[in-house]
Amino acid sequence: MTKLPEMAARNWIGGQWVDPETGALDDVVDPATGEVIFRAAASGAADVDKAVRAATRAFESRSTTTPRQRSEALLRIASVIEDHADEFTAIESANVGKPVSALPDEMDLTIDNFRFFAGGARTLEGRAAGEYLTGYTSFLRREPLGVVGQIAPWNYPLMMAAWKIGPALAAGNTVVLKPSELTPLSVLRLAELTADVLPPGVLNVVTGQGEVAGVALVEHPAVAMISLTGSVPTGQAIMRAAATTLKRVHLELGGKAPVVVLDDADPEVVAAAVRLGGFFNAGQDCTAACRVIASGSAYEAAVAGIAGAVKTLVAGSPSDPATELGPLVSAEQRSRVAGFVDRAVGRGAEVLTGGRVADGPGYFYEPSVIINVGQADEIVQREVFGPVVTVQRVADDEAAIAAANDVDYGLAASVFTTDVGRAMRASAALRFGTVWVNDHIPLVSEMPHGGFKQSGFGKDMSLYAIEHYTELKHVMVKW
Ligand code: NAD
Repeated sequence: MTKLPEMAARNWIGGQWVDPETGALDDVVDPATGEVIFRAAASGAADVDKAVRAATRAFESRSTTTPRQRSEALLRIASVIEDHADEFTAIESANVGKPVSALPDEMDLTIDNFRFFAGGARTLEGRAAGEYLTGYTSFLRREPLGVVGQIAPWNYPLMMAAWKIGPALAAGNTVVLKPSELTPLSVLRLAELTADVLPPGVLNVVTGQGEVAGVALVEHPAVAMISLTGSVPTGQAIMRAAATTLKRVHLELGGKAPVVVLDDADPEVVAAAVRLGGFFNAGQDCTAACRVIASGSAYEAAVAGIAGAVKTLVAGSPSDPATELGPLVSAEQRSRVAGFVDRAVGRGAEVLTGGRVADGPGYFYEPSVIINVGQADEIVQREVFGPVVTVQRVADDEAAIAAANDVDYGLAASVFTTDVGRAMRASAALRFGTVWVNDHIPLVSEMPHGGFKQSGFGKDMSLYAIEHYTELKHVMVKW
């Protein structure tokens, strides 16, 4: 396997490695073994301030770059990742416990995202000039915001960074990014590799705890916008803190995706989609197919098909090419997942397969299918973020849509049916930012990804993401 890069516990600020002021360190662990593989800087407010100052200085010249210059830089970042794909695969696998078999798709979408935003950088335009008052010409300028603070989660460290850095740089902003304290490695390496691509200070990476470095970034008066991908409670805390300096916020938060199975669905298609969509990345995915709702006669076949398919998942070492299911990211995350399942069982839920911590080292949890759950149950209402799928029975299409919508989240949903009319009605009625028909999980760079309701607001990917990182200015010229 490719060796992990040699990096020290430092931040990437102003185009170079900078020692943290705090001198404190966070352990970074391989979740497949529980071993410490790196110690990252546990940065404080002074470190964040240094990065924001570097980004502020860099913005002076960055804001006057042409779309072509920004586009060419993003294309080069994509090529740098492509050239180092084996290294990034090794890092993500060791730091997050991702099976190497799943990483080519993740790398492909990450690289494609940078290429998409390279193209997007050249398409932004304001409305054409016009005379709306006699003797005056008005036109619109679409301008970057300035320094953007970006806070990322641990489940797709490099890909989430791409979804954030791509549109922010395409629009002409400069960036201070704080990766998750659990998974800083790939983003630090990416920053280092951009040394020859981006001028100093355009992309800065500061590692550390959310409660310290994250809070300092949100509170910093020179940061114009905060973009978070994380949990709902973190989104709420950031929105409250951002109010003091009236920052724009972009929040990609949790999900509890329903899989609505209508009575004419093909059970084999459903089982295959849940096997992949519910257990990809060990279920640590904001769009995970975690909540199956089967209507009428679809229930028995759905349960049998899903349980049978899930039993065939191959769990094991992330570095083994045959492995489909790796560990959870941390001991804490695993006990959180186990807690949800144990409490559900305590209230009468039935475990069809899995339902327990796996034997051996590392933070593995058995892939689990749970039935006999009610709509109000915690395991149906709250994000588990692990390899756990529930299956509910409802009377008909109407009850299925009502149950699907009856959660605080609204990130993604799917509907399975062979009738195009029922598919169209369901996709209109589901209150989620993405709705798949007869599949669950694929995403593309051209289309927006983002939540309704408490899953947040602001879109990732697509041209809509770039717009969110810009400000519109009206210029009015008197003749
Ligand atoms: P988290 O909310 O615990 O942490 C996310 C980031 O926020 C981390 O970098 C953390 O250090 C930082 N943070 C925590 N508290 C903070 C605070 N008070 N101020 C500033 N920063 C703070 O989330 P996580 O456990 O890393 O990731 C899992 C969550 O992310 C899940 O809820 C998942 O659904 C969500 N997620 C959403 C999407 C999406 O596109 N909507 C994608 C991936 C993950």
